[in-house]
Amino acid sequence: MKPDGINFNPPQEVRQIIDSMFKFIDNEIVPLEKENKKVLEDETKMYDENLYLKKEVQELRSYVRKKSAEAGFYTIFVPESLGGSGFGPLSSVFINIKLHARYGPGRPLITPGRGLLVSPLMAGFVDGPSSVIAEMTDELKKQVLPGLLKGEKTQCFALSEPEAGSDVWSMKTRAERKGKNWVINGIKQWITNGPYADYAVVFAVTDTELLKAKKGGITAFYVEKERGWKVQSIIPYMGHFGSDTAILSFDNVEVPESHVIGEVNFGFLKAMEGIDIGRLAIGAICSGLSEWALNESIEYSKQRKAFGQTISEYQAIQFMLADSYLDTYTSQTLCIHCGWLAENSEKPPIKEISAAKGYCVEACQRVFDRAIQIFGGMGLTNELRLQDGFRLARTYRIPDGTSEIQRRTIARRLLKGDTSVVF
Ligand SMILES: Cc1cc2nc3c(=O)[nH]c(=O)nc-3n(C[C@H](O)[C@H](O)[C@H](O)COP(=O)(O)OP(=O)(O)OC[C@H]3O[C@@H](n4cnc5c(N)ncnc54)[C@H](O)[C@@H]3O)c2cc1C
Repeated sequence: MKPDGINFNPPQEVRQIIDSMFKFIDNEIVPLEKENKKVLEDETKMYDENLYLKKEVQELRSYVRKKSAEAGFYTIFVPESLGGSGFGPLSSVFINIKLHARYGPGRPLITPGRGLLVSPLMAGFVDGPSSVIAEMTDELKKQVLPGLLKGEKTQCFALSEPEAGSDVWSMKTRAERKGKNWVINGIKQWITNGPYADYAVVFAVTDTELLKAKKGGITAFYVEKERGWKVQSIIPYMGHFGSDTAILSFDNVEVPESHVIGEVNFGFLKAMEGIDIGRLAIGAICSGLSEWALNESIEYSKQRKAFGQTISEYQAIQFMLADSYLDTYTSQTLCIHCGWLAENSEKPPIKEISAAKGYCVEACQRVFDRAIQIFGGMGLTNELRLQDGFRLARTYRIPDGTSEIQRRTIARRLLKGDTSVVF
């Protein structure tokens, strides 16, 4: 029986993109990685005393971003209305799976890793142009898009706060009208790319009554760094000496009306749009990384000998390989199905996107945990990058909705009657 539309292999056009992306990486980026091995392979050497990435690492990332923009990869998922190629969620799933299955974790110029959640290869909603800013005013588009599309400028997505993480409705940042302008005050926390961004998409409360009723009241603003927002501090986490993540402060930062994105009081929908893109991308990244770790485990188990035979001959090892295959297979098919639904289904696949993010991240951590076990002592070494993948998967259980929030979303949808497994 021919399935109605869904195909679990990338279409020809996406295959070609993946092939040319691999060539671009192998020819342009891998040599750069080799030349700069000393600074890139060790997180104790990547940051300066203020916890910022060292100048040379920042310059390398910026170089790759611009090169990737020239080659057409950086803006591949940016909507056509903003000047990008407009590839949708299903293409993003295929590309992220293939990319991460091939290159693995801990390669900061290619994939997220070494604690860095952004990759300079493809703009994500947290660091570059995306559908989150599609409703920008034409005036603003003219001003900021050229730099963003060329990878010369970057942005950040400032939603979370010290007292408002999962619970966005507890947001304290306020924006008040002053004549024709808006004045923003507040603190944003955990902001990826915050230390390096030229612009921030900032969410602030503009109507407390709507907020209290959870019916709106949050507006999205686009704010250039020169308008006065500051990097208060950088947050090092999970074995790092610096990071991409910052606390930002907005102290009477004034922007004109033209800097509102979309409708006043309905910015929460914009935020969720970004977060949904992020959730599915994280699912796909993790399911690609799982494949990489599984392949590493298979190869090692066939070579490593203990008690006179290769460890692949022991059933204990075989079961770990089989379990990792199960995790990888279910993760990848889940993401592909979910990407297909996101492009083709009449209703948004809310619980499916939560399933993809929640499941694939946890599965990836299991696969890396088994891989480390199969490699024995070698598995713990920095050199093999298994610990990078393990750490990255652990990190991913928090941003873009914690594992508990994904389960909460799934359960709420189920209890509302959205119980379908296949649409
Ligand atoms: C590396 C990293 C990068 C990030 N990047 C960004 C970014 O670029 N922009 C941005 O705006 N934010 C970003 N975040 C913030 C991220 O989205 C929040 O950390 C996340 O939403 C969780 O919020 P919290 O840390 O305040 O935890 P809390 O919301 O305080 O949660 C604490 C614990 O309580 C649980 N919990 C909370 N509510 C419920 C509930 N209703 N039911 C069951 N359990 C619940 C949580 O699952 C968690 O286990 C990033 C975070 C990290 C770690």
